[in-house]
Amino acid sequence: MASLYMARLFLPGPLSAGSLDLPRDVVRHVQALRLCVGDDLTVFDGLGGEWPSVLVSPPPAARVELLRHVAVERELPTHVTLAVGMPANERMDWLAEKATELGAAQVQPLVTARSVLRLDGERAARRAAHWQAVAQAACEQCGRNRLPHIAVPTRLDAWLAGLPAAGDGSGAAGRCLLAAPGDGHALPFATWAAGLTGSQNLLALSGPEGGLGPDEIAWAQSAGFVAVSLGPRVLRAETAPLALLAALTARAPLD
Ligand code: SAH
Repeated sequence: MASLYMARLFLPGPLSAGSLDLPRDVVRHVQALRLCVGDDLTVFDGLGGEWPSVLVSPPPAARVELLRHVAVERELPTHVTLAVGMPANERMDWLAEKATELGAAQVQPLVTARSVLRLDGERAARRAAHWQAVAQAACEQCGRNRLPHIAVPTRLDAWLAGLPAAGDGSGAAGRCLLAAPGDGHALPFATWAAGLTGSQNLLALSGPEGGLGPDEIAWAQSAGFVAVSLGPRVLRAETAPLALLAALTARAPLD
């Protein structure tokens, strides 16, 4: 298996063995990495597995030879969707990067009643594309061969209404959690996690800087979300979902 410390490049797939001209933006990346002809690198297309490869012609017309496909994955055993009240400024970039490193399968940025950052239409789509590029770079760095999906920001009420189990609470029980500061009303994470079986899909909702409003908490709870606490400290909007992923990672086999 290729070393994780080797340069890793994402290329849009599906890929197959053989040689391939690199797109212009990837050539710039190859130049920044100072790769030379004959250098080994790893290529992946986000669809699964990776390709041990070698640079066969130098920039600006860089070509790589994809030698073979290796079906290796570095995913969390649990498929985790983080639905997060978007933190403002570069904190959402940071969240997209770290959530990717920590293994989130999906991030759904949300506009909530108390959100500072309110995006819709074209701006929302542009920001999502930017965060998707951040996630791609994080996959190159951390060795993931599957790209997490960073969804276009949407309103919390619309998102909740679109969930399969919204309204009846049945299908959501046990796998939908609402990150809530530990003020005595929420289950401690360890108690909640003890009830998890196998590699369930998890859906975690957490609030923006100003927290979720009482109505929003009530909607989420009636859709089957269980309030779960990660301790007595108030975590920032970008910290709480990452602390949750780290806690789930610690429960999983760590090889
Ligand atoms: N002033 C806000 C704090 C918001 S913190 C308030 O009082 O609600 C942003 C979000 O992080 C919260 O909405 C919650 O979803 C999550 N969060 C913060 N601390 C947490 C903790 N200790 N455990 C679990 N979730 C937490």
